[in-house]
Amino acid sequence: MRRNILIFGPPGSGKGTQAARIAERRDIAHISTGDMLREAVAAETDLGLQVRAIIERGDLVTDELMLGLVKERLGQADAKEGFLLDGFPRTVAQAESLLELAAKENRPIELVVLLDVPDEELLERALARGRADDTKETIHHRLSVYREQTEPVLEALAGKVTIETIDGVGDLDSITERIERVLDAANSPQG
Ligand code: AMP
Repeated sequence: MRRNILIFGPPGSGKGTQAARIAERRDIAHISTGDMLREAVAAETDLGLQVRAIIERGDLVTDELMLGLVKERLGQADAKEGFLLDGFPRTVAQAESLLELAAKENRPIELVVLLDVPDEELLERALARGRADDTKETIHHRLSVYREQTEPVLEALAGKVTIETIDGVGDLDSITERIERVLDAANSPQG
């Protein structure tokens, strides 16, 4: 079974919503680093206090902090059955560390699902979502951070992990079905 999956996409692409649906259907751990960080901010933990201003600006939290967080989460029992990483890796350094960890622990990343959504639609959706860190300026900033720091991750992964691009425009159910079809195809025939 191919069960260690990454979901990729620009801010506002709907990756969080789709990741939650897919993880639930496949009974694998949905690991959203954005959710984890927002929970830490809300709970005012040490981590939360460290990252709050960074998230509000739409900048990236340091690779070191993120790696620590993700390593710990991947070590938990539910993640051993399979995981869907949502929002990580976001830099080439994070991607390289993840591949190294995956190889060392013999838990290969089997597939990257890339949600493709045009920029105009991304801006519209992000504004409609109305999250506290979603002002027009931070949305633009997060999009440029994505282009500059996160898109190169795809080049770093190309040739090492299969990347499937999915049309991320349409109703939620159709997009979930598109992703499911790709995951099913990736499951066969070797299992
Ligand atoms: P998200 O919900 O995935 O859009 O994440 C919300 C915010 O959390 C981002 O804008 C970043 O500030 C931070 N964040 C989440 N994941 C990462 C990551 N892998 N590396 C650095 N910062 C992250």
